[in-house]
Amino acid sequence: MARTSTAARTSVPLGSLTQPGARSGQGCRACGSPRVTRISMSLTDGSPVEFTSCHRCEHRTWEEQGAQGSVLPVDRVLDKTRKII
Ligand SMILES: [Zn+2]
Repeated sequence: MARTSTAARTSVPLGSLTQPGARSGQGCRACGSPRVTRISMSLTDGSPVEFTSCHRCEHRTWEEQGAQGSVLPVDRVLDKTRKII
């Protein structure tokens, strides 16, 4: 009985990859997870922002572009987008 040891070597991606992020704020601001969706968009008043949505904790962040990526408070975002809603 030859026991062929099928080495089920599933290399599990641990997801804790420390990416050499040139830019700060690459991951989630709340939990630090790199699994985020980043979308560049413009608010109603024309200010370019980067929207980050976390897959892990569903934290959402809007960051002002150009201004060293300062985080916009949700109130500000809603204020800027209120005109179309
Ligand atoms: Zn998160």
